[in-house]
Formats: sequence, C-alpha cells, structure tokens
Amino acid sequence: MSPVEATAPLVLIVEDEPKLAALLADYLKAAGYRTDICADGREVAARARLLNPALVLLDLMLPGKDGLEVCRELRSFSDLPIVMVTARVEEIDRLLGLELGADDYICKPFSPREVVARVRAILRRSRSDADSGAGETRAASNELAQVLRIDEARYTAEFRGQSLQLTPVEFRLLKTLADAPGRVFSRDQLLDKLYTDHRIVTDRTVDSHIKNLRRKLDAASPEQELIRSIYGVGYKLDW
Ligand code: CA
Repeated sequence: MSPVEATAPLVLIVEDEPKLAALLADYLKAAGYRTDICADGREVAARARLLNPALVLLDLMLPGKDGLEVCRELRSFSDLPIVMVTARVEEIDRLLGLELGADDYICKPFSPREVVARVRAILRRSRSDADSGAGETRAASNELAQVLRIDEARYTAEFRGQSLQLTPVEFRLLKTLADAPGRVFSRDQLLDKLYTDHRIVTDRTVDSHIKNLRRKLDAASPEQELIRSIYGVGYKLDW
C-alpha cells in the first residue's frame, strides 16, 4: 500500500459499526484517499466544518442523530458530495422521494471496491465542477455533449460518432438521463418523463427500454458503460 499524500482528498466515513468503518477506511486509503471516521450522528456536522472533507459517506442508521437529519444538517451549510448508505434497498426509493440532496446511494451489504469506485466517480465529477465554477460545469457537460450528441429537433442521437437507431421512448430516456449526468432516477421518475399516463405501464417497462438502449449504446462503443443501474433503485448516466 503506498502512503497517502497529505493533500489527498479526505473522505469522512460516518459509520457506527467499527469493523465496517475500518474496512472502508482501508480500501479508501489503498485508493489514495485520506479518511476520518465518525460514529455518532451528533458529531458529523462539527467534524465536517472542522475537516472540510471532499466527500461524506453517510450511514442512515446512526446513534445520536440519524443519517436523514445529518444529511439535512450538512446541506444547510455545505454542498459537499454526500453518499448515503442504507441497510435496506427499499429505503432508497423513500430517500429519493425526500430529495435530501444526497449525491448517490449505496445499499448494504456492499463491496468496498464498489464504494471506492463510486467515491472516485463522484469526486472526479465534483472536481471538474469546482475547478471551473459554473463555466467548468458547462465545460464538463460540453465534453459529454461531444461524445453523446442528442439532436432533439431531428430526434437523432450519436454516441462516439456512431448514429443510434432509437425508438422515441429510448430517445426520451437517453435525453432525460443525459440532461442530468450522475443523477440517480428511480423507475417511477423515469416513467413520469416517458409517458403522460403511466398507469398503463409497469416499472419493468423501464427496464426493458433501458436494456435495449444499453444494447444500442454498447454496439456503438463497447468500451464505455454509459448507463448504470443502481440495484433496487433505478438508473443513472455515468459521466
Ligand atoms: Ca449503522
């Protein structure tokens, strides 16, 4: 394991199970991040103000103050990336509905590797936002716009120079995801965008459209998985 640089981004791990917290810290350090662990919900805000972490991994069930409250508290003074960790997949839909402003959701049990990958993806994104301010956010999404060209007037889309033959529903699905890269959409939220009356379709309809859309994206450029499914929650466009 190489030593972690003093200037490396700090990940604040909020987790009251000591073994799990230590495991996450090990993996994150191995990936080059500094870490700090907080086990009590009441201490998180003060710790975050003091340490100014690059990202907070926030467990939902905590002694003192639960993750929901902590998330709101952090959001009252900071827009730092927050990844909520829950023990139940069904919780995530409810959390999405509350619009807490978390950046991502992870369900236990998770693989530490997956957590590191998510942390890395979010920090890459937020760094490119921070470097450029609003202009840089635009630059980052321009970059996506260069790779994924969506022409609404013509209802055509290209991925890495390959034209995609999309159905109208697939087109709207791709447009919705691409308009908010990194944002997790539940199946319900996607259905709302796709159909004016979605009582006639089921959640699984979204899955089958996504499956077809992914197949077409994959045929255009197999080396990049653009649409990621978040187990039990929904989908997002990784960028
Ligand atoms: Ca817990």
